[in-house]
Order: sequence, then structure tokens, then C-alpha cells
Amino acid sequence: MTFVRAEGAKEEIQADLIVGCDGAFSAIRKQFLRQSRFNYSQTYIPHGYLEFTMPPINGEFAMKPNYLHIWPRNMFMMIALPNLDKTFTCTLFMPFEEFEKVTTGDKVIKLFQKYFPDAIPLIGAEALKRDFFCLPAQTMVSVKCSPYHFGDKCVLMGDAAHAVVPFYGQGMNAGFEDCLVFNEIMDQLNEDFSAVLPEYTRVRVPDDHAIADLAMYNYVEMRAHVNSKWFLFRKHVDDFLHIIMPRTIIPLYTMVINQGLLFCAAVSVAGGSYLLVRYPPSMPNIPIEQLWSRLQALKSPF
Ligand SMILES: Cc1cc2nc3c(=O)[nH]c(=O)nc-3n(C[C@H](O)[C@H](O)[C@H](O)COP(=O)(O)OP(=O)(O)OC[C@H]3O[C@@H](n4cnc5c(N)ncnc54)[C@H](O)[C@@H]3O)c2cc1C
Repeated sequence: MTFVRAEGAKEEIQADLIVGCDGAFSAIRKQFLRQSRFNYSQTYIPHGYLEFTMPPINGEFAMKPNYLHIWPRNMFMMIALPNLDKTFTCTLFMPFEEFEKVTTGDKVIKLFQKYFPDAIPLIGAEALKRDFFCLPAQTMVSVKCSPYHFGDKCVLMGDAAHAVVPFYGQGMNAGFEDCLVFNEIMDQLNEDFSAVLPEYTRVRVPDDHAIADLAMYNYVEMRAHVNSKWFLFRKHVDDFLHIIMPRTIIPLYTMVINQGLLFCAAVSVAGGSYLLVRYPPSMPNIPIEQLWSRLQALKSPF
């Protein structure tokens, strides 16, 4: 591989294995395209996105934090997700031609007055006028490819292998799952790259393609279907059937979230164990007479 440093210097590096985890516009994946029998497709959706920050009010979240807030408007939508610092990140998804019509601060406010009036005082009119033009609306691309490996030398992971549209909130999780599955296969096949890489492709491609399709479906569901009474009724029926037959009927999103939680738990346990073994905590040498007062201090820090 040839790396070009920021100051322009070139560096050539040989490696046993190249892991292409360089994102949706992967330079490594571009090299795969030069090989025969490499399948590749990419789809840009006609929507772009812009982000705004909703600040806290009196040090508290401006809206209820334990929800995904959606303003569904059929052809477009805004969503808000809470952050640890009590702000919300509001993301406006809209067709590019609609973004292009909004050319001045006043037009931004008119758009919000018409479709998201309750969000104006929460984000702030001045912030809206300013932030709308900080960046151009960003594109969203869905990439599918196969195989994920080249011989025993190179493998794709994360968005480089499977960029998905963000409407299922699982793109990064899918990338983490690539690492976990790769690690498991490395253990099963004794770290033999010539066996591990094809097996990783065999296991991961169908799952990643499935999450790409689900994300694309949710793109319509979030902005349009949630407005339909029939859709909401069906969701309630799904939930009711799940309550009375929890093992037989499981709503799709619940299944994905459960898998995600299981995955996070597995990563936490594996990571925690690794860190404990690799960096065992140095046990403090505390005289027994001080132990009780230290425990008391831990219990009531103030
Ligand atoms: C609006 C939006 C909302 C999202 N929300 C969620 C969510 O709620 N949950 C979720 O799980 N996922 C979400 N995602 C998806 C998530 O952001 C991505 O799946 C994740 O960031 C992919 O990680 P990655 O490491 O594969 O790629 P990236 O994060 O793109 O990282 C690639 C890295 O490679 C570097 N790079 C690129 N080219 C080169 C090169 N030629 N040489 C050297 N370095 C290079 C880049 O600088 C970058 O640091 C969202 C995405 C978007 C756009």
C-alpha cells in the first residue's frame, strides 16, 4: 500500500493482511472493482440531510429524552435524538430539490413555520437561519458488494463493505458486528487467512445485505407510514400479539434491537475480560483500619 502523508510525503507499506475500513467511499473497495467476479451496486437516495442542535433548557433536555422524536411529513421528515450533554441532534431529511429552494434565512423560517413550528423556539430562529447554510445537504448512499475479501490478503469491513442509509440506526452496529464475527472465525479456523476470509464473506454478506434492505424500507416507514392510521393500528396489533405470544410473534424492530443488545453485551463482556487480563488492576494496599472509612466515603461522596 502507498500512503500519502498530509505534508505530501509518500510511504510504502507491506502487510500480511489489509483491512479496508475506510468508509462508504472506500479507496480499497475501488481496487476490488478492478477484479472480475466482484459484484457491486450503489444507490443514492433522492434525499439529503442537515443537522441542527437543540440546546438544553435550564440545564435539562428541551424534550423528553427517552424517545426517538419524529416529525413525519410524508415526502420528508425531521428526527431528534438525545445526546449525553442534554442537547438533541435534530436531522432534517428532505429531497435535494426542496433543499435547493431554500436559499435565504427567511425561507428557512417559513419552511419551519409550515412544517415544524414547535421546533423553532426549541432550536432558535437565529440558529436555524445560520446552521441551515453551514454545510450543503449531505448525501446518503447504500452500497452492496460481494465478496468482502480478496484472496488471503485483503478484507472489507464496516461502511467500506456495506454503507447503509441511516434509517434503521444499525450501520455502525453492523460494522462492529463484522469485527466480532471476524474474530470468532479467526478462532475457529486457527487464524488461517486463506480459510478465514472466504468464510467471513460467506457469513457476513447475507446479514449485511439484509440490514441494507431493512434500512431502505424504514426510510419510507419513518417519514410516511407512521402517519397512516392503518399502519399504527397494525403496530398495536403486532404489539398485542407479541404480549400474548411472546415467543411466536416478535415485531421486526424488536428482533433487531434484541440482537443488538445481545451483541453489545457480548462485546462488553469480551472487551472487559480482555482489558482485565491484559491490564490487571493494581490492588491498592489499604490498611484494614482505613477500609471501612473508604467504603463509607464511596457510599456518600458528598
Ligand atoms: C446521518 C447518519 C446517521 C447515522 N446514525 C447511525 C445510528 O444511529 N446508529 C448506527 O449504528 N449507525 C449510524 N450511522 C452509520 C454510521 O455512522 C456508520 O455506519 C459508521 O460511521 C461507519 O464506520 P466506518 O468506520 O466503517 O466508516 P467511517 O466512519 O466512514 O470511517 C472511515 C475512516 O476512514 C478514513 N479514510 C477514508 N478514506 C481513506 C483513505 N483513502 N486513506 C486513509 N483513510 C481513509 C476516513 O477519514 C474515516 O476516518 C449513521 C450515518 C449517518 C450518515
